[in-house]
Amino acid sequence: MDLYKKNQLKIYNSLAKEKQVFNPINEGSVGMYVCGPTVYNNVHLGNVRTFMSFDLVFRYFRHLGYKVRYVRNITDAGHLENDADVGEDRIAKKARIEQIEPMEVVQRYTVDFHNTMQKFNNLPPSIEPTATGHILEQIEIVKDILKKGMAYETNGSVYFDVLKYNESEQYGALSGRNIEDSVHNTRALEGQSEKKNPQDFALWKKASPEHIMRWPSPWSDGFPGWHLECTAMSTKYLGEKFDIHGGGMDLKFPHHECEIAQANCSNGVAPVNYWMHANMLTLNGQKMAKSTGNNILPNEIFSGNNDKLDKAFSPSVTRFFMLQAHYRSNLDFSSEAMEASEKGFQKLMQGIRLLDDLPVATKSSLEISNWVENCYKAMNDDFNSPILIAHLFEGVKYVNLLCDGKESLQAGDVSLLQDTLKNFVYDVLGLVDDVSQVNSDKLNGVVALLIRLRKEARENKNWALSDQIRDELLVLGVQLKDGKEGTTFSIN
Ligand code: AMP
Ligand code: ZN
Repeated sequence: MDLYKKNQLKIYNSLAKEKQVFNPINEGSVGMYVCGPTVYNNVHLGNVRTFMSFDLVFRYFRHLGYKVRYVRNITDAGHLENDADVGEDRIAKKARIEQIEPMEVVQRYTVDFHNTMQKFNNLPPSIEPTATGHILEQIEIVKDILKKGMAYETNGSVYFDVLKYNESEQYGALSGRNIEDSVHNTRALEGQSEKKNPQDFALWKKASPEHIMRWPSPWSDGFPGWHLECTAMSTKYLGEKFDIHGGGMDLKFPHHECEIAQANCSNGVAPVNYWMHANMLTLNGQKMAKSTGNNILPNEIFSGNNDKLDKAFSPSVTRFFMLQAHYRSNLDFSSEAMEASEKGFQKLMQGIRLLDDLPVATKSSLEISNWVENCYKAMNDDFNSPILIAHLFEGVKYVNLLCDGKESLQAGDVSLLQDTLKNFVYDVLGLVDDVSQVNSDKLNGVVALLIRLRKEARENKNWALSDQIRDELLVLGVQLKDGKEGTTFSIN
């Protein structure tokens, strides 16, 4: 039987502002859309956290046996500075500064994004569409909204008429803003003056002569408004109404609010059944962000090369650190907190390494099925990974008691304990035992250093020291072999 049939999953719906039982539109299937990165810069650990939160959701749905279509876009045009309706396109600006093509910027940072996701063991989405690959679909939506009388054209640009929309629908329902506070960030007067009201947002923008990312349309050579791509791509790949839409908390307004308004007008239905928002990763209490420089990059955490870090940490330790917080809780990054997570992660992995050698008894002295149920209960309660991790430590405690002969389990319970721990640690949390890999890299480095010191000792005819290094390494199980090409080693 598929696991989803016996697990009632509850999801916190940011629109309803409560936990609700998850009922998919099509039984056994999930359609999920998550806003992807704007590829004009390297992603920082804050971005990684949001994508990891939805990777956990994706992984758990798959574990439960759902067929998931997970769509996460790449924003490669239309996202202007400061999330505003005026100003320079973020990608075009980077291209101008670096004197390269905008598509070179896009390529460079898309590759970096994919590498980073892979390092953290975030699974690739089922479809990863780009904004520039869906300009025609976006133009069709603008035409639709114009036809319905909810948008207007000024000087070749098209704006969504928020106040008119708000007469029949509630603009601001997701973010909880009232209409007076829903003013868009339109700092430059030029953009402002084209709008009937400051609440209105751009669906299509006429490109100024220097704006290089432009496409023909019925209104002008221009480019789509930032919010439009997600409406176009979610509708195209998941349908007018789909199960889940996710993103970071900071996208609720204006981005998701505008997506709801666009889809409501164009498709005539509210697009999403469950809105999910992941909370922010902070550093010194402030949101990690590209623009302020208050951030840590993935490469810095792996190398320890940042003055906010006392040492390097592996991808799985970082992943474990993030999953020890619930996705809707704020999480503050610090080197000390990471070190505590590293200790916890090592304890967890030590338990996992013992799993294949558990003793089998004729009787069970532990209630394993209750424990399994608790693991599922945690995840069924809005993907509560910190509670799940607490139960996994309980499982590790059982493993140690069994190895010490203090408790016993019969064969069926041993398999249940093994399978549950492995499934949750590897498949659902997506952790990898990479600390032993890091340790072996370190060991290789230390042996290479000793080989160099031994070579120096031999060059100085210090035979006693050279022999001592060789003999003591051998006692530790490291055998040196001197050959024509230099000295190599094997670890037994
Ligand atoms: P961007 O490329 O800026 O559109 O951001 C990509 C994703 O990262 C969005 O879902 C943001 O909400 C999310 N994000 C940005 N900063 C943080 C942060 N400090 N913590 C968690 N998520 C973030
Ligand atoms: Zn989006």
